Amino acid sequence: MLADSYGRVATDLRVSLTDRCNLRCTYCMPPEGLEWLPKDDLLTDDELVRLIGIGVTRLGIEEVRFTGGEPLLRRGLVGIVAATTALRPRPHTALTTNGIGLARTAPALAEAGLDRVNVSLDTLRPDVFEKLARRRRLTDVLDGMAAAAAAGLTPVKVNSVLMRGVNDDDAPDLLRYCLDHGYELRFIEQMPLDAQHGWRRDTMVTADEILDRLGVHFDLEPADADTRGSAPAELFHVDGGPATVGIIGSVTRPFCGACDRVRLTADGQIRNCLFAREESDLRPLLRGGGTDEEIADRWRAAVAAKLPGHGINDPSFLQPARPMSAIGG
Ligand code: SAM
Repeated sequence: MLADSYGRVATDLRVSLTDRCNLRCTYCMPPEGLEWLPKDDLLTDDELVRLIGIGVTRLGIEEVRFTGGEPLLRRGLVGIVAATTALRPRPHTALTTNGIGLARTAPALAEAGLDRVNVSLDTLRPDVFEKLARRRRLTDVLDGMAAAAAAGLTPVKVNSVLMRGVNDDDAPDLLRYCLDHGYELRFIEQMPLDAQHGWRRDTMVTADEILDRLGVHFDLEPADADTRGSAPAELFHVDGGPATVGIIGSVTRPFCGACDRVRLTADGQIRNCLFAREESDLRPLLRGGGTDEEIADRWRAAVAAKLPGHGINDPSFLQPARPMSAIGG
């Protein structure tokens, strides 16, 4: 088991497959100038699959979520997914993606056994999309979502980040679109994880504000809190249900006490929290002849040292050195 000293057990592994991305969302990456991880530091497909296997067969990992950067940019993605779904016990698998290229790869991912996708979509307006993501790719994203649903990668969940003065009035339209298409929408509060350190508490759009804006157009009823478990999203039934909308209030409504996540970066670092300032490097063991049990031991120690909370609301909070794109969101 991957247990920490506060009684939490990590069963959900987020695996970053690359730090590169084909969008430049303003809350995540600068327009240019971000240095990529050195090529030799990146884990090979075989190394990644070995680590995922250790997580699943020795450490109790039950869910594997592929992310990045943009995971669809990883050439070996379909093979990595297939090797993961061949593990026993078979983990639940998901992919967090911006959707660009998903229209082409969704059938192969479904064939490889991927269970479902999370697609990021912050607006339905092409001009706002271009301003926010610094690329004109909205149609590709929408096509990718439709292809994922058609391939059975369901439920398709949609992640949205609202930025004040940019897309903060898009919330009702995004929800209407997701309801119409059978997608499950979740709004994520903007977190201090951008490479350019531009996050400001006083301008972030809070969970309360998002609920107020949605409440003008929809009837929202909290779903039963008892069923939330370790899920980051607080769910609300929309217009009597069964459809729901989720709010991930990472900053104003932290859920660290129920966290069951652990992260593996594309260069082989275990991170016990998105906001951790320390990492455990598995590469020396991986590339130096370490046994599976030795790797598992280092991994256990990394999780055991997990702090009780992310500390964003503490005056002494310091943003981690790695940006979200290199951690894996
Ligand atoms: N490229 C993929 C994508 O777009 O989903 C996967 C990686 S991306 C880092 C994962 C998620 O993190 C996306 O939904 C994105 O919107 C979210 N994200 C990135 N930076 C964020 C920030 N500063 N605060 C909150 N969410 C953020």
